Amino acid sequence: MHPKFTITKTTAHGRLGKIETAHGTIETPAFVFCATKGALKAQWPNMAREAGTQIILSNTYHLLVHPGSKLIHELGGLQKITGWSGPMMSDSGGYQIFSFGYGSVSSELKGKNKDQERSKITQARLKITEEGAKFRSYKNGSTIFLTPEVAMQSQIDFGVDLAFVLDECTAFNIERNKTEKSMHRSHRWATRSLEYFNKYKKPHQGAYSIIQGGVYKDLRIISTKFAAEADSFGIGIGGSMGENIHDMEEILKIIHKNNDATHKPIHLLGIGTIDAILMAVKYGIDTFDCVYPTRLARHGGALIKPHYNTIINSNKTRQSNTIEIKDNTNSASANTRRHYLNLRNAIYEKDNNPIDISCNCCTCATFSRAYIHMLLKADETLAIMALTQHNIAFMNRLMSGIRKALSEDTFEEFKNAWA
Ligand SMILES: [Zn+2]
Repeated sequence: MHPKFTITKTTAHGRLGKIETAHGTIETPAFVFCATKGALKAQWPNMAREAGTQIILSNTYHLLVHPGSKLIHELGGLQKITGWSGPMMSDSGGYQIFSFGYGSVSSELKGKNKDQERSKITQARLKITEEGAKFRSYKNGSTIFLTPEVAMQSQIDFGVDLAFVLDECTAFNIERNKTEKSMHRSHRWATRSLEYFNKYKKPHQGAYSIIQGGVYKDLRIISTKFAAEADSFGIGIGGSMGENIHDMEEILKIIHKNNDATHKPIHLLGIGTIDAILMAVKYGIDTFDCVYPTRLARHGGALIKPHYNTIINSNKTRQSNTIEIKDNTNSASANTRRHYLNLRNAIYEKDNNPIDISCNCCTCATFSRAYIHMLLKADETLAIMALTQHNIAFMNRLMSGIRKALSEDTFEEFKNAWA
């Protein structure tokens, strides 16, 4: 079957829908968990499913470097070899081109010279031309030439349900004319990507075009119109979303206002922090992906509702609950510290509460904060698995809460409860 998107309800606060794929249905708004090389980090596919996961996303760039799309195709495709039989997305590798060429946006924001230096070195190894992006494999030094056609053939080989066109992302602080040039190149790559994909794809596959244009509103309008008219199943929003959540909201407003293809599902690429999700659903965003919940888990962070944190830890300082994690996703997603506990912190040494008493994940049913703290201090892998399980369940509960609130017209109250 072809993927199919149905909007079931549209409100002033967001919309409800479903994406039906050959591998299952995704109720939207939904969170897409990152399975970079086909695997969720520290989590079995069935456990992710039990925690409410509807769809996962793999990165074309990493899979191309190793083991290559042909081998995955020969072995039966990602859904067969990974044990994740549900819906799957893959990106096109465009984001990694951006990371290689310009360094991460968050690094620039924080003025990290090391990253800028590294960026200069990687730029020397990366050559972007009209044809595509040529780079050296970090695995064995071989040259990989990622063209729109290669990006799409790879995703066809993976067997994913939902794919993305190849795009070139720009850093948030580059000047307008460079952003404009890059946007037009992304449009040309999108046209090539879709021509190739629509000709050679498997029947169950659909592709997303991508809106670029960085922080420049006029460019976002041009790119929105381009993406809406493209012969694609869905629309992705990529590129720099500015310096903070307010910049992001301004960009989403523009896109929302100028998008004539409201019948297509809309995916916000690389953004998925709680504040960003609660803000963005209003602008018709149907799906989000981000490494945030699983990466946070690997740093000892357990997601919780902010009020829950305040009540449980009213006698503990808020500062002690923060964690510095490297965030190489879009800059606007970086400011989200208040939604988690840092279980590495000594204040949890004797805390016999579960992470969240109202959470029905197997971590909260089994382990106390004190025990997870103990595991983290001992560098036990189980700690990361337990936190990943909880954070996945948490994000899925957040999304089902959003869907319920939209369905019952109580989104404003729901959002306020999280503010
Ligand atoms: Zn839990």
